[in-house]
Amino acid sequence: MESIINKINHLKRKKNALVIAHNYQLPEIQKVADIIGDSLALSREIANVGENIIIFCGVKFMAESAKILSPDKKILLPVKNALCPMADMIKAEKLKEYKRNNPDSKIVCYVNSSMEVKAESDICVTSSNAVKIVNSLDAKKILFVPDKNLGNYVKNQTNKEVITYNGYCPTHERVNKSHVKRMKNKHPLALLLVHPECDYDVLKEADFIGSTSQIINYANKSKNKKFIIGTEKGVLYKLKKDNPNKEFILLDNNLICEDMKKITLKDVLNALENEEYEIKVDNSISKKALKSLTNMLNKSL
Ligand code: SF4
Repeated sequence: MESIINKINHLKRKKNALVIAHNYQLPEIQKVADIIGDSLALSREIANVGENIIIFCGVKFMAESAKILSPDKKILLPVKNALCPMADMIKAEKLKEYKRNNPDSKIVCYVNSSMEVKAESDICVTSSNAVKIVNSLDAKKILFVPDKNLGNYVKNQTNKEVITYNGYCPTHERVNKSHVKRMKNKHPLALLLVHPECDYDVLKEADFIGSTSQIINYANKSKNKKFIIGTEKGVLYKLKKDNPNKEFILLDNNLICEDMKKITLKDVLNALENEEYEIKVDNSISKKALKSLTNMLNKSL
């Protein structure tokens, strides 16, 4: 493993490239990454770095967002088929049809969506700013796509009429209130920190609900010593690294996103050596998607 890591580090310097990794990536990928974070934080960081080649270790919609926000950089996704099943649950055509039938409604789209879906939406949101952004919109009726769980979480914190689409994250859907009951009985002193992509029955039991970055910040600042984590397993790497004296237990061992685990060190090395696989975006769609992303970034400042 050391020799492949040395090769990666050597090529990064030689090519003036940067490896960035989502919090859900395998520990060895997070080890070689220059920046680790959630999808939006990473896209924002890319816009500010000097390197022109970015190895984006995540899934396709994230690499696409990075390309849309930094069109002059070469964005490489080390594995072609690292996709997000939730992002694929809705197609742009559906949104076009909805817009025709509901001209008074605004379309709010979670960043975990394709570029085409972003292009048909009014504004994007992340799991950390969704409530704030929906509340700030000058429309009473909102269609929230694609995640029904994040949509329901928002719906419970706004006076607006929020219609949710039936998409979901297959990874976070794996946990339910019986997992919570079992783990709370086993670890009564632990705090439960969960991602809003989980079912509302799970959220109701949580001590804290937030994005991966918010969960990490919460655990870093908390005086508690033990936590049950209700999000993808990869987050444990940073939680444990930042807090060697605290204990983190996954709400369920099946909280693993298979697509997020597709990228290996060999793939990162190949991406650096052969500059594969470059993210290309259609200019006209990308321009429209940029508007939805920029609308969000302007409101989040
Ligand atoms: S964890 Fe869920 S939302 Fe994230 S990439 Fe995997 S399937 Fe998509």
